[in-house]
Amino acid sequence: MRVYNFSAGPSTLPEEVLKEAQRDLLDFNGTGMSITEMSHRSKPFQAVNDEANALLRELMGISDDYAVLFVQGGASQQFAAVPLNLMTTGKADYIVTGNFAGKAQQEGAKFGEAKIVASSKDKNFTYIPDVDAIQFSSDASYVHITSNNTIFGTRYVNLPKTPSPLVADMSSNILSEEVDVNKFGLIYAGAQKNIAPAGVTIVIVRKDLLGKQSATCPTMLSYEIQAKNDSLYNTPPCFSIYISMLVFRWLKAFGGVKAMQAQNEYKAGLLYDFIDNSKLFKNYVEVKDRSIMNVPFVTGSEELDAKFIKEATSAGLASLKGHKLVGGMRASIYNAMPVEGVKALIEFMKKFELENK
Ligand SMILES: *Cc1c(COP(=O)(O)O)cnc(C)c1O
Repeated sequence: MRVYNFSAGPSTLPEEVLKEAQRDLLDFNGTGMSITEMSHRSKPFQAVNDEANALLRELMGISDDYAVLFVQGGASQQFAAVPLNLMTTGKADYIVTGNFAGKAQQEGAKFGEAKIVASSKDKNFTYIPDVDAIQFSSDASYVHITSNNTIFGTRYVNLPKTPSPLVADMSSNILSEEVDVNKFGLIYAGAQKNIAPAGVTIVIVRKDLLGKQSATCPTMLSYEIQAKNDSLYNTPPCFSIYISMLVFRWLKAFGGVKAMQAQNEYKAGLLYDFIDNSKLFKNYVEVKDRSIMNVPFVTGSEELDAKFIKEATSAGLASLKGHKLVGGMRASIYNAMPVEGVKALIEFMKKFELENK
C-alpha cells in the first residue's frame, strides 16, 4: 500500500509517473529495453533529453538567453561549481538563511572571499532578513541566496535587488511557484525534492555568464562545457532525466506552475491554519516568511513529538520526523503531495491533539 510520504528528500513522486515508469521499464517505446539500458547517444534517449529540456523551458518561461543543463553531483556540488565558474572578481556575497545556505557560503570561501552580507542565524533561521536593508558589495561577482530553506521552513517572498547577478539554490521550491527567471544570473536545484529521483541537478544559467570559469575549474564542473555538449559531455543520469521528463509532462497537464502554485498555497494554507489554531502544535517561523513546501512544527514536548511520529507512521503518514537541527516534526508538501495527503495529516493531528490534552 502506498503511504502519504512527507519526506524532505528524496521525496514523493506523482503516482501516475511511477506507474508509467513501471510500464516502460521492460520496454521503452518499443525498443525492447528500458531507458536505463541504452546508449545516452541513442535516438530514443536524445529525444528524452531534448523533451525534458524543452518542457522545463516552457514550464518556467526560460528564454534563449539562458542555458538549461542537467548535471550530476547534487546541489552540494553546485556550492563549488558556482564560484569556480562565476567568481571572477575573487569575491561574492552570500545571504545565510539556513544550513544549506551556510554550506554554500563555506564552500565559496574556499575559492575567494565569500562575504556574509546578511544572516538569520541569530533566531535559529526562523525568518528571512529584510532584503531591502542589505548592503551588497559593489565588487562581488554574484549574490547567493537559498530561495527556500528546507530544514527551517522559510522562503523568500521578495527577492533582493542586487548589483551583481543573483544566484539561487532552488532545490526545494523549484516549480512550486512562478518565478521570473530573468531576475537571476543562475538557478540550480537538486532534482530529488520536487522533480525526480536523486542523480540529476538542474542548472539554469544566463549565457553571458558562460566561459568565465577559473583555469583550474574541473571539466565536468564547467558550465560552458556542459552547455556546449547539451549536458552530454559524459554519461548523464539517464533515468533521473527520464523521470524529470515525465514529471514535467505531468505538471504541464496539471496546468503548469501557476496552477500548481495555487494548489501549493491552498495545501500550505490548510496546514498553517490548523497549526495556528491548535493548542498543541506550533510553528516558530515568522508568518510572512513561511515556506509553502516544508512545514516544521512541534508540540513542545520531545516525548509527545516522538509519540506523534510513531503513531503517524502507523497511520500511513510517513517521514514526518523533523531535521535534527530543529527537532519535532516537518511535513514536506512538495508538488507531488496530493491535497488529500495534507487533509489526512490534519485529521490525524486533530485526533492526536484530542487524545493528548
Ligand atoms: C537538499 C538540499 C540541498 C542538498 O542537495 P544535494 O543534492 O543532496 O546536494 C541543498 N540545498 C537545498 C536548499 C536543499 O534542500
